[in-house]
Amino acid sequence: MVTQSAASTSHPSELAQPINKTAHEFDKTALDALLARRFFFAPAFEIYGGVAGLYDYGPTGSALQANVLDAWRKHYIIEEDMLELDTTIMTLSEVLKTSGHVDKFADWMVKDVQTGEIFRADHLVEAVIEARLKGDKEARGVKDEPVVEEDDKKKKKKKNVKSVAIKLDDEVVAEYESLLAQIDNYTGPELGELVRKHNIRNPTTGNELSEPVEFNLMFESNIGPTGQIKGYLRPETAQGHFVNFARLLEFNNGKVPFASAQIGRSFRNEIAPRQGLLRVREFTMAEIEHYVDPLDKRHARFNEVKDVVLTLLPKDIQSEGKTDTTQMTVGDAVAKKIVDNETLGYFLGRTQLFLQKIGIDPKRMRCRQHMANEMAHYAADCWDFEIQSSYGWIECVGCADRSAYDLTVHSVRTKQPLRVQQKLDQPRKVEKLDVQFDAKKFGMTFKKDATMIKDTLLGLEKDKLQCIKDELVNGKSSVKCADGKSYDITSDLVKIEPITVTEHMREFTPNVIEPSFGIGRILYSLLEHSYWAREQDKARGVLSLPSVVAPIKCLIVTISQDAELRAKIHEISRKMRRIGIASRVDDSSASIGKKYARNDELGTPFGCTVDFATIQKGTITLRERDSTNQLIGQVDDVIAVVDQLVKGTIDWKGASEKLEPYSGVQDVEE
Ligand code: AMP
Repeated sequence: MVTQSAASTSHPSELAQPINKTAHEFDKTALDALLARRFFFAPAFEIYGGVAGLYDYGPTGSALQANVLDAWRKHYIIEEDMLELDTTIMTLSEVLKTSGHVDKFADWMVKDVQTGEIFRADHLVEAVIEARLKGDKEARGVKDEPVVEEDDKKKKKKKNVKSVAIKLDDEVVAEYESLLAQIDNYTGPELGELVRKHNIRNPTTGNELSEPVEFNLMFESNIGPTGQIKGYLRPETAQGHFVNFARLLEFNNGKVPFASAQIGRSFRNEIAPRQGLLRVREFTMAEIEHYVDPLDKRHARFNEVKDVVLTLLPKDIQSEGKTDTTQMTVGDAVAKKIVDNETLGYFLGRTQLFLQKIGIDPKRMRCRQHMANEMAHYAADCWDFEIQSSYGWIECVGCADRSAYDLTVHSVRTKQPLRVQQKLDQPRKVEKLDVQFDAKKFGMTFKKDATMIKDTLLGLEKDKLQCIKDELVNGKSSVKCADGKSYDITSDLVKIEPITVTEHMREFTPNVIEPSFGIGRILYSLLEHSYWAREQDKARGVLSLPSVVAPIKCLIVTISQDAELRAKIHEISRKMRRIGIASRVDDSSASIGKKYARNDELGTPFGCTVDFATIQKGTITLRERDSTNQLIGQVDDVIAVVDQLVKGTIDWKGASEKLEPYSGVQDVEE
C-alpha cells in the first residue's frame, strides 16, 4: 500500500519554488500580530493596563534574546578575550554625580502651557516638521512612503501630527530638510528657538508650548532603611566597569590594551516612550570598555577588519543638512582620518560583522558620526550604528572614544590612582614643573582647605601649571578645586620651577573606546528585517532568522497520529536536545502544512518529518524553512547534519551534499 509521504503533505505552495521574499510589501500590522500571537514580547502588567515603555519577553522573545546575547558573548568576549563583569544595577549616587549623570543625563521636554501635556522637545519638533513635509508632498501630488502605525495608541499619536496637504515654498522645504538632518544636534535653547520660529504647537490642542526644560532620565532610589544613602538604577553599565578599573588592570597584569565587557539591565525614565521596544524604560545593554594607551590607539587585529565595508554618514555631511552616505572600507576610513583611530575603526568593523551574523540586513545599516553638539564634551569621536526599520533610522549601537574622562573624574574624586604604569625600555629625561610650597604660610592661609588645594596643584597637567606659573610672575593666580571653588594663590605661598628628571616609568590614564549595544533595539530591527510572507499566500508570514539566533532550531513532526510514529518524534527530540539542539515536537492534530506554517512564524529554520519509512527504513526528511526544500537520510545522519547547520559549520548547500534530495514520493508498506 502506498502511504502518504512527508512531502506530499506539504502545503502545495511549498513544492520547490524559487524564493521571492519581496513579493508582498512589508506589513507591520501582520508582523505585530505575529509577535503577539507567538509571544515574542508583550506590554508588562498588561492585565493591569500596562505602563508605557515596559515590556515582558515571552518564551520566543527570551530565547531569541538569549541567542543574540550568546552570539555577542562569543563574538566579543570569547573571541577577543575580554574580561567579563557583572556589576550592580543599584548605583551609589556619588558615582553618578562624579560621572556627570546626576547633572547632565537629561532630555529636553516642553509642556502644553494650558493642559500641561508633556512632549520630548526634539521628537515633537521632528514629528511636526516631518508632517509638514509630508503635507507638502501631498499638495505637490508626490506619493509618499506608506506610514506604518504601531498600535492604536501610536495611531493616535501619529494622528496628532497629521499631515495637511499644504504646499510649502521651496526654500522652506530645504530649511526643514536641513533641520531634520541635524535634529540630534540642537541644544535645549535652540529647540526653544525652533519651536518659536516655526510656530510649533501641541498638535492635538493647538496650544502654545513652554520653553524646553531639562528632565533627568535616572530613576532615583534610597539604599537601606534610613534613606540617607541615595542611589539610582544605573542608566548604563559603563560606570560599573570604571569603578573596578584598578582590579581589572591588576587582573590583566598591569598592561593595556584590554577590554572589559558586561551584559545587563539599564534604566532610563524616558519622557515619552513609544516605538515599542525601540524606546523603553528598562532594557538590556551589552557594553565593552576597551582601555588603550592615549598615545597609541592602534589595534593588533586591525588587519582582520580593514576590508570590511561600512556605510558612513560623516558629521560634515550632516552639518550641510544632507544624509548622503558613502561606502568605504574600515581601512580607508581610518587612513583618511574620517574615523579617528584604528581601535574605533576596529570596533566599527567588528560590529558590522556581528550585526550581519545575527541577520541584520547590511543594506539597512549605516554608521552615523555624532555632530559637535551631540557628542559629549570629552569624547574624541563617536559613531552610531543606525538600523533602518519602519520607524526610520534608529541608533542601535553607539561606538564612542570617551578619552580619559571617566577614569580621570573617578580618580580625582576617590583619590585612587586609576592609571597605568609602564616600564620604559630606555630611561628618559623629562622637563617638568616642580611645585614648592611654603608649608607654614600655606597652612595658615588656607587652613582646612590647604590639603585639597595642595593636592589639586600637584595633580595639574604641565600646561595648566605653566599658566599658573606665568600668572604668578605678576604675584597672583588662582586654582579651581573639586569643591567647585577657585582659590587665590600668591607667589610667596607657591613657587613653580622647571626641573629635569630621569624617568624609568611612564604613567598615564588610559583612554576608553566604548561600543554600547541596546539589545532590544537590535532584536526588534532583526524581527522586521527577517519578516516576509510567502508569494502564494500573503497570510503565511515567515521569520527568516538565522539558525544561530532562532529560538527553536528544529521542528519535529509526524505525518500521522500513529502511536509508533509519535514515540519516534519524542525519541528524536530527546536525542537532539541531548546534544544541545533546541528542538520542538509538534504532536498536535493539525496538518503538517499548518505545523510548518506555525514554525515559520517562530523562525524555526529546520524541520524533520517522521513517516512510516522511519519505522521501516530508519529515514527522516529534513526541510529548510525559506526554500522549503527537503532532504532525506538516516535519523542519526540527519541529526548530525542539523547539528552542523545549527553550529554554522555547514550551510544548506553543504547539507545537500551530505544527504539525498527528497523526491517527494516514498513508497512504504504500512
Ligand atoms: P547611549 O548610552 O544613549 O548611547 O545608548 C546606548 C545604546 O542603548 C543605544 O545605542 C541604544 O541601542 C540603547 N538605548 C538607549 N536608550 C534606550 C531606550 N530608551 N530604549 C531602548 N534602548 C535604548
